[in-house]
Amino acid sequence: MIVFKLFAFIAKIHLPMNTNELWQAVLGELELSLSKANFTTWFKSTFIAQFEEGEITIGVPNLFTKAWLEKKYHKNILVSLQNLTNARVRGIVYSVEAKQSEPKNLSASAEPETAPASSDTVYIDDLPQNVYEPTAQNAVPASDLTINNKYIFKNFIVGKQNELAHAAAQAVAAEPGGVYNPLFIYGGVGLGKTHLLQAIGNELLRKQPNARILYVTCERFTNDYINAVRGGQARQFKNRYRNVDLFLVDDIQFITGKEGTQEEFFHTFNQLYQNNKQIVISSDRPPKAIPALENRLVSRFECGMMADVGSPDYETRVAILETKCSNKQYPLDRDVLHHVATVVQSNVRELEGALNKIIAFHQFKNIRPELESVKPILASFQPASSRKTVSPKLLIQTVATYFDVQTEDLLGKSREKRLAFPRQVAMYLMREEMKASYPSIGTEIGGRDHTTAMHAYGKISDKLTDDEKLQHDIELIKQRLYAL
Ligand code: ADP
Ligand code: MG
Repeated sequence: MIVFKLFAFIAKIHLPMNTNELWQAVLGELELSLSKANFTTWFKSTFIAQFEEGEITIGVPNLFTKAWLEKKYHKNILVSLQNLTNARVRGIVYSVEAKQSEPKNLSASAEPETAPASSDTVYIDDLPQNVYEPTAQNAVPASDLTINNKYIFKNFIVGKQNELAHAAAQAVAAEPGGVYNPLFIYGGVGLGKTHLLQAIGNELLRKQPNARILYVTCERFTNDYINAVRGGQARQFKNRYRNVDLFLVDDIQFITGKEGTQEEFFHTFNQLYQNNKQIVISSDRPPKAIPALENRLVSRFECGMMADVGSPDYETRVAILETKCSNKQYPLDRDVLHHVATVVQSNVRELEGALNKIIAFHQFKNIRPELESVKPILASFQPASSRKTVSPKLLIQTVATYFDVQTEDLLGKSREKRLAFPRQVAMYLMREEMKASYPSIGTEIGGRDHTTAMHAYGKISDKLTDDEKLQHDIELIKQRLYAL
């Protein structure tokens, strides 16, 4: 015993820092090599619980983190610990232990609970309190119909770029209101945020058919709030939003600059959070990067788990295509599949779009997709960097040729329909494909006014929503435009 203590004492004095400092140094190193979301999520509540005889015990908040650190970060942690202790650490054990003094106390926050309200804003909480009486009858329906039952975990392909968000979403569905509250998922368009949010809803509903689940877009929340204020429906609003077990809010970035809505969201958030109800939020960027988002909301959003979704890598794109093809019972040859995965890189929505186009085209023509027949269809999906840059001249020429009119006539004054329509299409495409300004479009198209260009863009955009022939025309023009 005495020998052991002495040994431990010697071990201690050899360490240049205490365990807390040591761990901070490790975290400092790890932080450099990880994304903010990963770092915060996995290392926020970790600490060195014990350091004895070359073995370090790292305290982690839950089994989920334990498994993840063991699987993903063990090597990095070990290397870092060894570097910092002159290789005196031989082994690491991860153990679920609570770090002392981390109360889940929202009001401990330094920020004021109520933001200064501009005088013309009416908040739900300013309305008479007695209108709010939650009862079983007026609670929200068990589930909200806006959840799509196709968005389930089973249909979600996991790759490096989304494994964190996927694992977090699963953990939340398994234990709503647990340690990952709120869960904040962020990333660019078409990368599966809505899919994951709704998968959590679907999964919980499967396990607990009576769970009260509310999925809303930020826009819907805002509109409901505005209508509630205008129509004196504060009670209904509160009943709808504050009596749920799972609150899924999509695209929260649109709350930017809406003071009243932010205030109301803050109170809704607090009420649910304090009752251990699960909140899941999606956004196109991390909380701090949302402009004009109140600090107290930023800190609420950051206090749980943050997970990012990124663009799928090549292997994931192939896996996604394979799965979608097999779901649609429309197998593609390997070379075709690999070509699609090479060309369409940006996001999963585009990948699905490309596949649907290929299927529609080949079913219509009743032929098998082959590399040569697929290539032109994908021309418009070329990643921006490798896409040919299009000049106004080329664009105008391509449109004129497609509609079989002379370029000079297209640019001329005649309002004949056979010329006016291609002219509008050309203006639409200059806006859409070249991101040209309206004045410059006007100038290029025979020195017209910018309002003419705006009108043309609006008209063609409208028409495109239900005119399949026009959709097809535009697609073919784009293919010619970008053909290599
Ligand atoms: P976001 O909300 O991030 O813009 P969505 O969730 O709407 O993206 O995803 C766009 C489309 O791509 C949806 O049809 C979705 O099912 C699909 N999708 C996205 N990510 C995946 C994935 N990892 N596996 C399978 N399908 C996916
Ligand atoms: Mg979405």
